[in-house]
Amino acid sequence: MKTRILKINPLKIEEEKIKIAAQNIREGNLVVFPTETVYGLGANALDEKAVKNIYKAKGRPGDNPLIMHFDKIENIKEYVYIDEKLYEKLKLLVPGPITFVLNKRSNVPDIVSANRPTVAVRVPAHPIANKLIEYSGVPIAAPSANLSGRPSPTIVEHVIEDMFGKVEIIIDGEDVDFGLESTVIDLTEDIPVLLRPGPILPENLEKIFGKIKIPEFIYGKVKVDEAKAPGMKYRHYAPDKKTILIEFSDKRIDIIKEKVKDYKNPLLVLFEEDKKYFEGYDIIVSGKINDYYNIAVNLFSMLRKADKTKNDVIIIEGVEDKGLGISIMNRLRKASSEII
Ligand code: AMP
Ligand code: MG
Repeated sequence: MKTRILKINPLKIEEEKIKIAAQNIREGNLVVFPTETVYGLGANALDEKAVKNIYKAKGRPGDNPLIMHFDKIENIKEYVYIDEKLYEKLKLLVPGPITFVLNKRSNVPDIVSANRPTVAVRVPAHPIANKLIEYSGVPIAAPSANLSGRPSPTIVEHVIEDMFGKVEIIIDGEDVDFGLESTVIDLTEDIPVLLRPGPILPENLEKIFGKIKIPEFIYGKVKVDEAKAPGMKYRHYAPDKKTILIEFSDKRIDIIKEKVKDYKNPLLVLFEEDKKYFEGYDIIVSGKINDYYNIAVNLFSMLRKADKTKNDVIIIEGVEDKGLGISIMNRLRKASSEII
């Protein structure tokens, strides 16, 4: 397939280019577009054949549902059941990097929800994503625009690596803002359940929804409850190379010094502050030790970079399980082949 790349400046959007992409969505084609979280691989959510092609292009298992993206929150009402009280709460969180799981109406194709009675909906805050959905005139079904199992793309070069030749359009809309996929919360039960930690933190959710459930699997340490969080059961975000995660602790420097002895040519992914202890080693800096926002933004891009080097193993420092650190560790534990 011939892939066309459309370069669009998110701060100065050229309408003609968005119109070309929107026309492609309406025709049942695949369009990769930037969002504030990661790049998405989109198709008309109401066109089953088009949605099937998303699964094909990614090599995604058919039991892993997609997210339906809307330009305005009021438009979700046509596709999900939601009472006014809950709807008012959602309005406080959108647009933004958060996805709501709600009971779907019968007009949502089963392929979007992977045959579930629920569907995930999101209103992205990215100007290109927003205009694309608006001009398409239909909700856009989209997962992240990576090959299944690989780290989500946060820069257009990584989209091109995975999707060139498999989609009609790639919108190059510059680097994303957050670098972690949206927070996913299930609102179909009395107490909301966090299904995927992301940029919107549990403490923000509790301010709006009151108490929420945070299952153990959110931390990435135990097996996922497949029924609840279908997408999280698969090994994810994973480099091909052996990847060893060192859990955060005061002893981390000594642990890494021991571990590197086992390998000929390790690549170390370290905090800026810890670099000085490992002179002579190949190092990628993940960020400053307390700057979780910056570590999150660069996380997936760093995993891809680490995978391309000639080193025989990646040894990576983990952060603490607090705030955004929970979302970072959820991804890192899934990406690792060994955790110490
Ligand atoms: P991706 O955008 O590639 O991160 O994929 C969307 C994610 O949303 C999937 O991995 C699912 O875990 C989650 N998701 C989508 N629909 C549902 C649903 N109906 N119930 C629970 N989780 C869902
Ligand atoms: Mg994904």
